[in-house]
Amino acid sequence: MSQIVLCTFNARYLHTSIGLRYIYANLKELQGRAKIIEFVINTSIEDAVEQILRESPKIVGIGAYIWNAIEVGDFIKILKKVAPEVVIITGGPEASYFPHRVDFSGSDYFIQGEGDVAFYELCANIYDKNPPKNRVIKAEMVDLSKIELPYKYYSDEDVANRYIYVEASRGCPYSCEFCLSSLDKKVRNIEIQRFLKELQILWDRGVRSFKFIDRTFNQGIERANMFMDFFLSKKPPYFIHFEVVPDNFPSSLKERIKLFPPASLQLEVGIQTLDPKISQNIYRKLNIEKIQRNLNFLDNETKAHLHVDLIVGLPGESLEGFGKNLDRLYNMTKCEIQIGILKKLSGTTIDRHDEIFGMKYSDKPPYDILQNNLISYEMMQKMKRFARFWDLVYNSGNFKKSVKYLFGDGRVYDGFFSFSEWVYAKTLSTWQISLDRLAKLLYEYILEMEYASKEELREVMSKDLLVIKTRKLPKFLRFDEQESIEKRKNHIHFNKRQLKHSGQI
Ligand code: SF4
Repeated sequence: MSQIVLCTFNARYLHTSIGLRYIYANLKELQGRAKIIEFVINTSIEDAVEQILRESPKIVGIGAYIWNAIEVGDFIKILKKVAPEVVIITGGPEASYFPHRVDFSGSDYFIQGEGDVAFYELCANIYDKNPPKNRVIKAEMVDLSKIELPYKYYSDEDVANRYIYVEASRGCPYSCEFCLSSLDKKVRNIEIQRFLKELQILWDRGVRSFKFIDRTFNQGIERANMFMDFFLSKKPPYFIHFEVVPDNFPSSLKERIKLFPPASLQLEVGIQTLDPKISQNIYRKLNIEKIQRNLNFLDNETKAHLHVDLIVGLPGESLEGFGKNLDRLYNMTKCEIQIGILKKLSGTTIDRHDEIFGMKYSDKPPYDILQNNLISYEMMQKMKRFARFWDLVYNSGNFKKSVKYLFGDGRVYDGFFSFSEWVYAKTLSTWQISLDRLAKLLYEYILEMEYASKEELREVMSKDLLVIKTRKLPKFLRFDEQESIEKRKNHIHFNKRQLKHSGQI
């Protein structure tokens, strides 16, 4: 039984909450009374409340994020109804900015900002029978040199089965308006030797997959190089994930990136838009020449796996403009291009464009844009499906060569848009489409549009799919199946008896 329960709903079982572990690590003398319990967003809320109450808690701390705000709101409502004596403290980005867009009103306290120390202080005051009168606690930014790090609170089960998130710095020097990290401009670093020591302990415990949550890993090159050296001194296999800005790859960093073996390094490269005017609108730095040079380097001289991203719905950007960006980016890199839909995150300043660009967002998390004065609701819906099919067909890497038939004359956006519309007309869904069905749809579309002959397409698509050796070709691509389809077609007008008489079977 624990008097303080720290909980949240993660998006997937594989995810772990570094935030809860930070709070737990900094509970000082209260730590012995505390426990972390993590759920996933598809856990029944009633079951989650039941599990929490089994601990007979005095205080429940819960983390609210864009991916779980609805679940957290429901959890608070039920918990407060059945156990009103439990003190609920809500923190995380969704609780930090007012007005709340999800009803968290049953919560007794809200921690705005970094809860690492504020949560402990609030609990200590509650135990001292000196609870604050104000329900909203404005937490100061913590001094990272003074707080406990959370890494020893990853359990052996976490180490064996789940992602291990690590954080070498907080804040981002850039100001992109749609991003929450832009609010915390001063970058605060964790002292490097202290951090490397923690990485070594995790490594010794068997962690081989590290996800850095630092917003711009390559803004401080000396430190970035030291992290690279740490991993380069280790024996593969391992996997490291970093978020990077596309315009800061000095030669010392490049030399190191080149040394990483295949499948060991993943870089998330934020692009968002390639239009300087739009970029200016949202205060995002853009140096296209450098982006081009660096993507070219990463693609051709390293084995790093790259994700770049573009956003649909930015203030002032039409679909035509987005399409041009996609065509251009496609020509700059062979890597995955993630297509995101603009979201209005609590606390960001993107809402200053609402009136001038007619920006309308959903009131429900994740607060996707619904329309603006350049993109109608109907078109935005189409673009959401475009993004989903793009992920399934292009980013999945399952149709590496066959997908190129869609992009005749280098018109990637137009070509894929037509395909996306066609697929949706057939499926009326963007979910639960098996790989075989998707392959068949792509196959049929390419033939219908006469982008390739049947023989050529069968060969290209079979090669695409058989890149995974253990995979079975879908029936429609198997040679014997094609023959039997042809036979069936030829015989369609005859019954068995006639065929027997004619000696055909
Ligand atoms: S989008 Fe990236 S670069 Fe821009 S503020 Fe956010 S974290 Fe920083």
